[in-house]
Amino acid sequence: MSTVEKPDTAVQTNGGRPEAGQIPVENPATGQIIGHVEDMSAAKVEAIVARARLAQPGWEALGFKGRADVMYELRHWIVQNRERLIDIVVAENGKTREDAMLAELFYVCDSLGFWAKRAEKYLADQRVRAHSPMLLGKKVVVRYRPHGVVGVIGPWNYPLTLGFGDAIPALMAGNSVVIKPSEVTPLATMMIAEALLECGMPEDVMPVATGRGETGAALVDHVDMIMFTGSTATGKKVMGRAAERLIPVSLELGGKDPMIVLADANLERAANMAVQWAMSNSGQICMSVERVYVEEPVYDQFVSKVVTKVNRLRQGVPGEAGAVEVGAVTFPPQVETIERHIGDAVDKGAEVLTGGKQKTGAGRFFEPTVLTNVDHTMAIMTEETFGPTLPIMKVRDADEAVKLANDSRYGLNSSVFTRDVAKGEAIARRLDAGNSCVNDALMNYLAQEAPFGGTGESGLGTRHGRDGIRKYCSSQTILITRFGPKREPVMYPNSRRTTKLFEKMMVLMWGRKPK
Ligand code: NDP
Repeated sequence: MSTVEKPDTAVQTNGGRPEAGQIPVENPATGQIIGHVEDMSAAKVEAIVARARLAQPGWEALGFKGRADVMYELRHWIVQNRERLIDIVVAENGKTREDAMLAELFYVCDSLGFWAKRAEKYLADQRVRAHSPMLLGKKVVVRYRPHGVVGVIGPWNYPLTLGFGDAIPALMAGNSVVIKPSEVTPLATMMIAEALLECGMPEDVMPVATGRGETGAALVDHVDMIMFTGSTATGKKVMGRAAERLIPVSLELGGKDPMIVLADANLERAANMAVQWAMSNSGQICMSVERVYVEEPVYDQFVSKVVTKVNRLRQGVPGEAGAVEVGAVTFPPQVETIERHIGDAVDKGAEVLTGGKQKTGAGRFFEPTVLTNVDHTMAIMTEETFGPTLPIMKVRDADEAVKLANDSRYGLNSSVFTRDVAKGEAIARRLDAGNSCVNDALMNYLAQEAPFGGTGESGLGTRHGRDGIRKYCSSQTILITRFGPKREPVMYPNSRRTTKLFEKMMVLMWGRKPK
């Protein structure tokens, strides 16, 4: 745990004077420095993991019920302290209060209850009925046991949901977890870690390793399993190191999620969805709508609806609930990426219908931007922009839309809008993506019973559902022979008679092709 500042004071400015070995945390909406955290060395990370390893058996020994009690206690704590926690999330990330409330606190509270209730069922021993005649009379059981110390490395766009959110199932499985939040947004995670101690979690079960990329790399060097959420480029590095150590890894990476709007769609709903999920959190969502394909007959109407709606969005420093729809750009270099994608598109013939520039003045804001006349020669249609941009492309028909939607190295989320839901589902099944929605977008993330993950460069492995907790465990298959003879038929000494017997059995069972 970083000891530099108490999270509950972290939102107060301290004049922005970093001490050696500390990282300043900025409010991207105001430019103020709101706290500092320790830039932990590799040696410190190693020591933290060692302590977490010592704490793990005691945590596991609490059993599902004991661990669930801590999760329920924390859920209550979050509800009681919601204003303070939202203040920190908003201050370090620059997102709106609504996004902090719904996509972070609400999700995390839901998730705490979800895993507290279901972990035991998902990880219960499984009796396996083995089909092999050689195993007649033997019992086969599969059990799941925690890896030990899991490292969770999170990004800055959803500091709680995508960091602590992944720690919850790992903890419920009986692991210790060392969380490495992004250096840009570490404060909310630190607050949760402090709260967990208040809620009865033993010391060192969920420490926070604050620092930069090097701190994250050091974590991969010492933990028993790594859960990483972030960019594809960093994900590849993490997997490379995990491969050297031969530890399991789960990667939730970038996306370039397509939305398809067919001519028979409810255009008002589709336009609302496109604007909401392209601009929410300033477009800094791995599964935000990053590109739209609209069938020719309704293209003009759809574009006009979208532009009208985008022009109505209020952008600025997030204050009270309901104050603004779009907040700040959290991570400074992101502005360059957004500008590069828009500039490249305009150079190649795209038209900016609204927005297109960084706002002047305090804080870091980028205008909600709509582009048309776009195509796949442009980075804005093929690379992850991670900004408040909505490029819309006209297509002849659904087949062209599917072809273009699949023309991507990513495959995270996707959506199709049509009043013909059977057709919508058929199109969804043709999309190369880990997740697809029909007449909806992003809401699949709330179905925590179902796996969420990406294909291609969007990642490996899934979160949520049964596999979302089993990945934090290794399986152990146990075979039990209760009444065994002194000698099994396959045992030494080898004999011609036994070999012939098995040969006959083989021919009898598998000698004929199935009809
Ligand atoms: P990064 O890949 O830059 O960073 C992610 C985390 O990894 C940060 O904590 C970072 O630390 C750390 N890190 C950096 N270098 C290393 C390293 N060599 N070894 C280990 N850890 C390292 O991603 P961003 O924070 O910029 O997040 C945005 C990206 O995350 C986008 O591409 C987005 O699509 C993706 N994302 C994917 C989601 C999904 O579920 N699929 C969800 C949300 C985001 P530090 O920040 O301190 O440098």
